[in-house]
Amino acid sequence: MTAGSALCALALTSCQGTASANAASKVSAGTSPKAAVASASSTLSGKTVVLDPGHNGGDESHTAQINQLVPMGFGKYKTCDTTGTNADDGYPEHEFTLQVATLVQSLLEKRGIKVIMTRTNDTGVGPCVNVRAAIGNNVHADAAVSIHGDGFDASGHGFQIIQAAKSVGGAANDARSNKLSGAMHAAFLSGSGLTPSTYIGTDGYEVRSDLAGLNLSTVPKVLVECGNMKNPGDVALMESPAGRARIASSIADGIIAFLEQGSK
Ligand code: ZN
Repeated sequence: MTAGSALCALALTSCQGTASANAASKVSAGTSPKAAVASASSTLSGKTVVLDPGHNGGDESHTAQINQLVPMGFGKYKTCDTTGTNADDGYPEHEFTLQVATLVQSLLEKRGIKVIMTRTNDTGVGPCVNVRAAIGNNVHADAAVSIHGDGFDASGHGFQIIQAAKSVGGAANDARSNKLSGAMHAAFLSGSGLTPSTYIGTDGYEVRSDLAGLNLSTVPKVLVECGNMKNPGDVALMESPAGRARIASSIADGIIAFLEQGSK
């Protein structure tokens, strides 16, 4: 793993998808369109989801700010944020994560879910990883997802769904994050067009203790490394609008499946 990808992982998440099509077919099966919409809104309305696009466009030019140490939970500290990685042609991770998060936001809002973004433009600095966690905690989010792209070497490919080894939210919260991880993994498998990671973790799952945004969460949270931006196949998908739409749909489907589990 490159230094950049390790840093990237510090900050928060990434993605994939084709889930919205699946979700739409589930909702509409056997019902009229109006009935389907009403059913969806009754299940999901009132839910709050925090989406956390990793890094930010201003991070690279504000090294002092992003290198300041912030709490990462359990008495440890780490840097505020990192610049993230980029594709070999220069397409930056911070742009990818915001593009995908914005698509996910739209898909969730259409289902009646309230969405809060940790950042809404690509020209700022941070926010710091501890603040990104606090945003989800403060609104008591029903789910939070950090969206990232990885920066391994060209040989590896695929997605990783990452959860904390333990969070400050305790064992019950960790169990909920584990359910969110499973729902997200299933959605990525069926819809993203990407495979589970071939170079890290276990079959697309990973558990880490060095990610502040996950450690500090008191709400169910995962970080998604959508794909490897240094791999030709992954990055072709990640750079294309159609590919980002698939990734975003997978993230939305994973979140919705998790929220629907929780309501049963
Ligand atoms: Zn990243």
